[in-house]
Amino acid sequence: MNNTVSPAPARASHLASLDYSVVQQCMHCGLCLPTCPTYDATKLERNSPRGRIALMRAIADGWLEPTKAFADEMYFCLGCLACMTACPAGVNYAELFEHARAEAEASGALSSPKRNLIRAFTLSWLFMDLNRLQLLGRLLRLYQTIGLQTLLRRSGILKLLPRRLRELEAITPDIQPDFSADLIAPVTPARGERKYRVALLTGCAQDLVFSDINRDTAEVLAQNGCEVITPPEQFCCGSLHAHNGEWELAQQLARKQLDQFPPEQFDAIITNAGGCGSHLKHYHKLLADDPSYRDRAALWDKKVKDIHEWVIEIGLQPPAATSSNSAPLVTYHESCHLCHGQKITTQPRQLLRSIPALKLVELPESSWCCGSAGIYNLVQPEMADQLLQRKLQHIKSTGATVVATGNPGCLLQLINGANQQGLKLRVVHPITLLAEAYRAST
Ligand code: SF4
Ligand code: SF4
Repeated sequence: MNNTVSPAPARASHLASLDYSVVQQCMHCGLCLPTCPTYDATKLERNSPRGRIALMRAIADGWLEPTKAFADEMYFCLGCLACMTACPAGVNYAELFEHARAEAEASGALSSPKRNLIRAFTLSWLFMDLNRLQLLGRLLRLYQTIGLQTLLRRSGILKLLPRRLRELEAITPDIQPDFSADLIAPVTPARGERKYRVALLTGCAQDLVFSDINRDTAEVLAQNGCEVITPPEQFCCGSLHAHNGEWELAQQLARKQLDQFPPEQFDAIITNAGGCGSHLKHYHKLLADDPSYRDRAALWDKKVKDIHEWVIEIGLQPPAATSSNSAPLVTYHESCHLCHGQKITTQPRQLLRSIPALKLVELPESSWCCGSAGIYNLVQPEMADQLLQRKLQHIKSTGATVVATGNPGCLLQLINGANQQGLKLRVVHPITLLAEAYRAST
C-alpha cells in the first residue's frame, strides 16, 4: 500500500506499474553496499543498490523523469544480484532492475541511430529466430576455420578498425563444428530403468559455442535415469531481452517456450546455463497479465531446474573411481545468476566432490562477479576487465589448473582472461567434468 503523497506519473511507467510493495521495500540499511561490485569500485552512493533503488522509487513515485543519467546508471549495474543475497529485507532487486531497464528503454534516453540499429539487429531480429543465429554462427565458423581470421590478425589490418570493434573481434568465441542438434538425438533414452522424462533446453549462444556442454548434459541425465527430449529447433529463453529492457520480446519468447515444452508433459525442464535458468524460473511473473498462459507459466516455473540442482535432487549416481594417479586441482567460480539468482550454491560443489579423480579447492570470493554479466563485458569493458583481473588473481592464488563454472558467459569471460594472460588453465562446465568421469569409468 502506498502511504506517501506522490504525484501520479503522467506517462506509462514500467516502475510505476510494479507492485508498490516491491518498490518501497528497501529500508536503506546499507548492508548490501559491501557486496556490490560497482559500489566497491567507485564508493559512490548512486552506483550502489541502495542508490539505484532510490532512483527507481523516485521514478515510480513520479518525482523523477528517466533521464540519460538514470539510464546510464541502470546499465552500469551488472545485474549480478549480489545485493539480493545480502539484503535482510528481501528486496526483489531482480524485478526492480528489469523494470528499470525497460523504463530506460521506453524513455528513449539512450536512443541513437547506431544503438537503435544494433538493438534492432540483435534483440529484435537475430535472437528471435535461432536459425538466423545459427547461420551467423556458420559464417563465423567459416571465417575462423579457413584461415581468414588468422590471416587478418597477422596482417595487422584489424588495427584499422575502431578500438571497440578490434576489442570485440579479439574476444569472438570459437564456434563449435557441430551444434546441439547434430550431437544430441531428439530422444535420448535413459540408461537402465527410465525414472524421469525431462526436456533439455539447448540455449542460443550456448548452442553455437558450447554445444559440447549440451551433449554432456544429455549424457549425464541419461546416466541418471532420465529420458531426455531435445527438439532440434529451439528458441532463446528471452533473458537477454528481459535484462536489456525488451519486456514484450521476452514475453513473446516465453510463450514460444511454453508452446514447445508443455510443462505438464515433463518431470523437469533442464537448463545448464545459470543466467538463463534465473530468468526461466520467472515466466509466471513475466506472463502474469496473460490469462491464456499464466497458469501454465506457474507450472513451468516449478518444473524448470538447473542441471546441478536436478541431479542432486534425484540422487546423483557417483562416477566410479578410476586407476588414474593424477587428480587435478579444481576450483569453482559461482555464476551470479546461479548463486544469487537461483540460490544454487551447494549442489555444484556436491557434484564436483562426487568425482573421485579431482580435488576441489575453494575459490576466494567465489560468488563475486567475473564481469561477464550477460553482455556487460561488451558494453562496459573497463569495469568488466577490472572484475576479470580480480577473479583471475583469486583463481591463480588457489593453484588450481581447472576452473569450473556453470554459465556460458562466465566460461567465455574466464577463457578470454586466461588466454590474454597466457595461463595454463582449463575453464570448464562442472557437468563436462562429470560426463568425462562417467566415460572414464565405463
Ligand atoms: S545487481 Fe550487482 S551491481 Fe547491481 S546493484 Fe546489485 S550488487 Fe550492485
Ligand atoms: S536493498 Fe536491502 S540491504 Fe540494501 S539498503 Fe535496501 S534494505 Fe538494506
